[in-house]
Amino acid sequence: MRASGKRVRRVTCDRNILRNGAPESVSRSLIGATFEKPKRWGKWLICATDRPALIFHFGMTGRFVWSGDDPEPHPHDRMTLEFSDGELRYRDQRKFGGVWLAGAHEVGDILGPLGPDALEVTEDEFIARLERRRGSIKAALMNQKVLAGLGNLTVDESLWQARIPPRKKASSLSKRELSAIYRACQKVLRDSSKEGLVPAKRTWLTGARNRSDRRCPRCHSGLERATVSGRTTFWCSRCQ
Ligand SMILES: [Zn+2]
Repeated sequence: MRASGKRVRRVTCDRNILRNGAPESVSRSLIGATFEKPKRWGKWLICATDRPALIFHFGMTGRFVWSGDDPEPHPHDRMTLEFSDGELRYRDQRKFGGVWLAGAHEVGDILGPLGPDALEVTEDEFIARLERRRGSIKAALMNQKVLAGLGNLTVDESLWQARIPPRKKASSLSKRELSAIYRACQKVLRDSSKEGLVPAKRTWLTGARNRSDRRCPRCHSGLERATVSGRTTFWCSRCQ
């Protein structure tokens, strides 16, 4: 993040975006604070400073914009941190995300019982966390207490790449199948973090799910669609 190692000169924020205090408390706590290197954990970003930390949850549409790359402020800028060489703006169109101010011992309480970050977990731990879960493999992968950072599109894409049906019981999968899901998740997460979203490649399920004919890019059968674990889910019943 562009703010690492820099001191905050000024903070402005929307009344509603700070979830655990009044906007003035951010200025009071952070003016003069120096940002350390942030740590990502699932959809959370923990920005420690030499004072309290700022914790961001990006929701569906939240992101950072650096004023050097995009000088014009925007009506969806919910929080602006001013440094000597520019401004870091937290822009969120739909306000599903949020920002928390956290003292040294409060970070864990705010994040709750999150599982390990899906991009950093080892294959052995990934398998151990999933192999005894009751319920579908999709529900287990989406559960942030099991693994943090897997969203609906990432899970559908990974299961399609690993050829595992989303409604299959997690506990019925073999180690080999869970290992295939692990490799697919890592690949999808890496490609997504480069682009900032799950890429809608022609050869991926994600590229097919929004098209009108919705055919499997691998075998060209029509895709199945159902609500699984509360979310719209696509899969191919022929190759998954
Ligand atoms: Zn198929």
